[in-house]
Amino acid sequence: MTTDGIRLVAPDAGPPEGSVRVTVASSGICGSDLHMAAMGPSWAILGHEFSGTLDDGTPVAVLPVVHCGACDRCLAGEVQQCRNALGAMYGVSLDGGLADEAWVDPACAVPLPADLPVDHANLVEPLAVALHGLNRAGVVDGMRVLVLGDGPVGLCTVAAAGHLGAQVDLEGHRANRTAAGERLGASTGIRTDYDVVLDAAGTQGSLDRATELARPGGTLGILGTYWSPVALGLGFQMKELTLLPSFTYGHHHGDLEFAEATRILAAVPDLADALVTHHFALDDAAEAFRVAADRDADPIKVVVHP
Ligand SMILES: [Zn+2]
Ligand SMILES: [Zn+2]
Repeated sequence: MTTDGIRLVAPDAGPPEGSVRVTVASSGICGSDLHMAAMGPSWAILGHEFSGTLDDGTPVAVLPVVHCGACDRCLAGEVQQCRNALGAMYGVSLDGGLADEAWVDPACAVPLPADLPVDHANLVEPLAVALHGLNRAGVVDGMRVLVLGDGPVGLCTVAAAGHLGAQVDLEGHRANRTAAGERLGASTGIRTDYDVVLDAAGTQGSLDRATELARPGGTLGILGTYWSPVALGLGFQMKELTLLPSFTYGHHHGDLEFAEATRILAAVPDLADALVTHHFALDDAAEAFRVAADRDADPIKVVVHP
């Protein structure tokens, strides 16, 4: 066993049985990748936001979670609650997309609409996260929605909420990101009394802000990851808010949200341009990680292309 600086290299066992090869076209770096990289070498190749081409030429985005299909939650149709999913995530526990090729379960290779460039489809994963959060929070046409947090998931949430017909406002803290949000249809004039506030920042401050700006009886959708525990304040109870955390993506009204995200990405061609600020070759992946973590470089989404 050796270490190449990014992961520990186990003896090559060959591709898992029944899997299909994806020749990777694009692989996005996510905040959670930075957290995992900071924890030290990983057993698996990182990269859970990736797209590529199957051997038969089909362009796909990779749904990075292998749902077991057999547990009670999978059988109930709530695959995002699969009891066995954490042990089966490409880029987390299984080799992911920061590579020339990846081997994935055929059910995870989601075909792209004809008008979506495969190079953009690394954004399907964060967009599916956003869509699932919106669906969980019950966002529909005409609602007043506030997105807190101007990172990639926050900006994907703006785009997906607009696609669902909501009036979307965005509160962020970095000028180039809020400009991207405005380009995607958000207003940055913050009001109060929102039907739904989506916390895509994942901090105590953003949760307090969501509680403050939601209307009585409103809903807080939780998309950001609370890496530290948070507390709910008195206002949360007095407004009788509903808290709806979301994790990854599943089905909504029978549709696979990950597949719906491919269609939204095709319908919002500005999204890739607004979000992807940096491109790197795979050989420069270490530099890509450095830039992704560098506030001075002001990255939104950093993408690696083999
Ligand atoms: Zn991610
Ligand atoms: Zn399951």
